[in-house]
Amino acid sequence: MKRRLIALAAFAASLVLAGHSFAYVVDPGSPCAPLNMIVLDPGHGGDDFGAVGPAGIREKDIVLSVALKLRERLKALGCSVVMTRSADVFIPLKERPKFANSMMADVFVSIHANAAPKRDSNGIETFFLSMDATDEEARRVSAFENSFIMPADASLAKADISDITDILYDLANTESHHESSMLAEAIHLRMLSATGREGRGVKQAPFAVLFGSTMPAALVEVGFVSNPAEERLLSLDSEQAVIADAIADGLMGFKGAIQRITANAVSPVLTSATDNKKGK
Ligand SMILES: [Zn+2]
Repeated sequence: MKRRLIALAAFAASLVLAGHSFAYVVDPGSPCAPLNMIVLDPGHGGDDFGAVGPAGIREKDIVLSVALKLRERLKALGCSVVMTRSADVFIPLKERPKFANSMMADVFVSIHANAAPKRDSNGIETFFLSMDATDEEARRVSAFENSFIMPADASLAKADISDITDILYDLANTESHHESSMLAEAIHLRMLSATGREGRGVKQAPFAVLFGSTMPAALVEVGFVSNPAEERLLSLDSEQAVIADAIADGLMGFKGAIQRITANAVSPVLTSATDNKKGK
């Protein structure tokens, strides 16, 4: 009896520890399992240009182009991919994670380009959602991205603040929060090695576009359109292709990490059950 209780306790503990991992369905027929559904979110669109560089290059165009290339890379690998937008249209921030939830996505990647008052600010930074920003710079970036709420959406945004607070408190200790940090780390490392550009770190910040997503989610700032050299670089088809490949590699790295976690989470339970039987 005691051994059975121990086995049950081990099973319950593994469920708690594994958290979101247990929601993954490993379909051996899918080459991207357990990332059976990937949602890509190119930022901004339509009347919302996002950041605009000194030469007039617009964030909304760069990130859409990168996301379309990324979709092709992932589809070529056999992954199922949907996008919050695949054309130059405006989608309210809060609708984006809702869409990912409705698609029962296994992962959500939002793609943006950065801007800063200092012209020489440059490099790549990758974020995951948190109530507290890592530092002043992370707070500034999230405040900037969160400011792109169209007038029709503004009242909704205010009404959502208490909901958002609840969600953030819930998120703080969930496994999907931990997995989001793994996702951001995986994408960030590939981005740095593929582009050779400066890494500004993996950071946490309260991005509205990540609020309410129930799956691991990350936001990558692929460079600064406010920096004339990076603006030029980001507008090149070749650099956009490098970025798309790097994010695809990051997603595949994350997939491998999740597979290892899922395998490790399952095996102790099986071992406990086997031990329990032997003990009878
Ligand atoms: Zn943006």
